[in-house]
Amino acid sequence: MADIIVSENIQGPSMDALMSDFDVHWNDSLWNDGEALTQAVSEARAIIVRNQTQINEALLTQAPNLKVIARAGAGLDNVDTQAAMSRNVTVCYAPRENSLAVAELAMGFMLNLARFITLANNDTKEGNWNRSQFVGTELSGKTLGVVGFGRIGQMVARRAKAFDMKLCAFDKYLPHDTPVVHELDVEMLPLDEVLAASDYVSCHVPLMPDTRHLFGVEQFNQMKSGAVFINTSRGEVVDEMALVDALVSEHLRAAATDVRESEPPKPGGLADLENVLVTPHIGAFSEEAQCRVVDTVCADVRAVLTGASPSSVFAG
Ligand code: NAD
Repeated sequence: MADIIVSENIQGPSMDALMSDFDVHWNDSLWNDGEALTQAVSEARAIIVRNQTQINEALLTQAPNLKVIARAGAGLDNVDTQAAMSRNVTVCYAPRENSLAVAELAMGFMLNLARFITLANNDTKEGNWNRSQFVGTELSGKTLGVVGFGRIGQMVARRAKAFDMKLCAFDKYLPHDTPVVHELDVEMLPLDEVLAASDYVSCHVPLMPDTRHLFGVEQFNQMKSGAVFINTSRGEVVDEMALVDALVSEHLRAAATDVRESEPPKPGGLADLENVLVTPHIGAFSEEAQCRVVDTVCADVRAVLTGASPSSVFAG
């Protein structure tokens, strides 16, 4: 039985190095085979996952030698961190390494929806030359409302500032005197006021019990008529049916979402709407971000297994 289990597609030079120095069982579909996964972890000291492997109490019970769980990414919603910590299993992750990739995707969504890039592209490739059909708008002078003003939200705001957007934000925990608020001239407001003031709303909260369906009928109604909604955080933060209704009624002009309430989603719904961009949870998937993520988690697994200090430990 292997020392380190890798249950999803996690590759790169640091993984190669880990494989040459340790006994690693690498199987990118292991996450999808509960029985094989349970057997694999029975003697392992480490498991490295992305977001599909469910690390819960039942699995941890079958992994008595486990010292470290490493999540190659930022969110820890597929890891029962309390159960791990209560068994003295260290939980490592990569909370910063893919933030820039997500922020750039959010900017890409905004630019695309402002200028109808995908619609114009599809139409032109069908042989048309409909210039007057695709008169867009500029980001400059519009208001961006950032919901969840943490690492990614701040990166989006910084980039939007470079496009001369006005900024407001809602964050339940961030102190309003945080330097970046002043530096970027961000108006910190209650959620309903951010929604009412913004031409674009970009969501960057973590999935927590109190953020599940943070965006529902009431919140979409509070948004400006003709506004655009962007979600690159977690699908369950949004009541998708409410978003569909807000788009079908044309209260919202458009939306883009990288994440869905269930992944992969059932056909239909948001994906059927012309004024919606959907991507398959690729926010973190830039080559550069993936290198940073894999380097960090491999270094931390190596550290834990050799008695050194890991750099990115989830502290609870
Ligand atoms: P972060 O922890 O730095 O920032 C999250 C912010 O949300 C914090 O400032 C926090 O105070 C705030 N917040 C928490 N609960 C809130 C609430 N109820 N209401 C308002 N604000 C609240 O996290 P981050 O690195 O900026 O990442 C944000 C989210 O993006 C992650 O949690 C993850 O779910 C998502 N993400 C998605 C991808 C992707 O592939 N699409 C990749 C990485 C991260």
